[in-house]
Amino acid sequence: MSGGNLDLVIVGAGFAGMYMLHRARKLGLSARVIEAGSGVGGTWYWNRYPGARCDVESMQYSYQFDDALQQEWDWSERYAPQPEILRYANHVADRFDLRRDITFNARETTAAFDEAANLWRLETDSGERIAGRFCVMATGCLSSWNMPRFKGLEQFQGKRYHTGQWPHEGVDFTGLRVGVIGTGSSAIQSIPIIAGQAAQLTVFQRTPNYTIPAHNAPLDPEYKRAIKSDYAGMRARAKQTIPGIDFKLNPKSALEVSAEERQREYEARWAAGGLMFGASFADISLSKAANDTAAEFVRGKIREIVHDPKVAELLAPDYTIGCKRLCVDTGYWATFNRPNVALVDVSKQPIEEITAKGVKLAGREYEVDAIVFATGFDAMTGALTKIDIRGVGGLSLRDKWDHGPRTYLGLAMAGFPNLFTVTGPGSPSVLTNMLPSIEQHVEWIGDCIAFARDNGKQRVEPQAQAEEAWVAHVGELAGATLRHTCNSWYQGANIDGKPRVFMPYIGGFPAYVKTCNQVAAGGYTGFALS
Ligand code: NAP
Repeated sequence: MSGGNLDLVIVGAGFAGMYMLHRARKLGLSARVIEAGSGVGGTWYWNRYPGARCDVESMQYSYQFDDALQQEWDWSERYAPQPEILRYANHVADRFDLRRDITFNARETTAAFDEAANLWRLETDSGERIAGRFCVMATGCLSSWNMPRFKGLEQFQGKRYHTGQWPHEGVDFTGLRVGVIGTGSSAIQSIPIIAGQAAQLTVFQRTPNYTIPAHNAPLDPEYKRAIKSDYAGMRARAKQTIPGIDFKLNPKSALEVSAEERQREYEARWAAGGLMFGASFADISLSKAANDTAAEFVRGKIREIVHDPKVAELLAPDYTIGCKRLCVDTGYWATFNRPNVALVDVSKQPIEEITAKGVKLAGREYEVDAIVFATGFDAMTGALTKIDIRGVGGLSLRDKWDHGPRTYLGLAMAGFPNLFTVTGPGSPSVLTNMLPSIEQHVEWIGDCIAFARDNGKQRVEPQAQAEEAWVAHVGELAGATLRHTCNSWYQGANIDGKPRVFMPYIGGFPAYVKTCNQVAAGGYTGFALS
């Protein structure tokens, strides 16, 4: 690891950290990335569970900063599987010769701002030290995996896995009795595959989820050619949409059309598959009555697919569709028709303990050979609060965020000069296509650092009032949709004791970019530069 002072230290070699490094080099900044894993890829490096794939279509879930890169890379399926996305990340690292400035197998534990020297000083778990004038936390939004504190966890004699930290060599469940705890996206993707291997699969469900079929398939070469012939056009269209994805939103209200037209639209979206089911009508995320029509359509599909009416009822969610992140699956509901699959409701009688032999609740022990914890993440803030980050006067980020995350633009925090976050709380982040959002953040951060350098400034720090106003704006927008009406990780509800604050900016990609551009054009309005 470099002992000298760098212009920039980047934490994390996922898609954000990799592009930040590339961008820093282009700006003539010396930079080094610190990465906990042994390779690049971030979330796609860790999440290797069976069936893992991206729920944004592959032609859109990729970098666009280099046209040759997007022209030469060949996605094989509509939704890219995790191994292919990881290959893509490695290809980018090779193509842009990134590895020489990445330190692998080094987990950041502390980062402190040295006020006298205007330096961020970081230390890793092995005691290595590095310092840089600026620091970018490219630590990901869904990277700090959540293991609920189940009583007796340590006494389990079988194998334990977490979807967010899957063994690199893979796991073969053939002939085993397996328990899966959780029914979020990771569980919904892995359950059909585990069910195909296991002798017996028991799914422990606390809250059912809405999921839409992926209808995944190999990509048609003609379709790929058509997109590549005008990739820029497609990317430009995507940037005009709220999630930063090129898609068709039906501008009508679900309530203004006839029941037949509504059904036709939902059927067509179901047949097309994927997240864009949520765009069937313009008011699904705004009006409870409109939302009910979409939710009831999906519940109807569950009742059609799942043979046992009792199981179908348990699997059917009763809350706002799209409130928790919509899932995208391959054969999820039908998996519950298999004779080797059982569903256990843990909503009213929670898991009491993990025993030596399995999972116990309501006085019954479910014996299993392996448990898969598909229990999600301490989303958006967990990866940052895990590091002991100290700003001006020793202020700890954990303390600053004690009642919920506070940022300006989701990019920087008052009291933490020269520190930036990529797709942090307060940014559109997880509500958008992550790759274009990452690129926008990284480019903005790079420009801001270059501006400070070119103007002889040592420190860039959000002003407290600007941060205050942004936090209030983010909160106000969240309250205007139905997104706050359920227990989701968007508002920290999945982690005991985590403050309930809706974390991402819900105003959409175009409005956010416009604000960021105005801030930059105004000489970084809301920041103090000194
Ligand atoms: P998640 O959506 O947070 O799901 C975690 C599951 O574990 C939930 O069903 C939760 O129940 C359950 N759970 C947590 N603690 C529990 C406890 N003590 N007892 C019983 N059940 C418990 O996590 P995830 O599935 O890993 O997905 C997180 C996010 O990652 C997704 O929303 C998505 O944004 C992203 N992701 C994307 C993809 C993709 O691109 N296709 C795939 C995977 C993940 P409750 O709902 O009751 O809390």
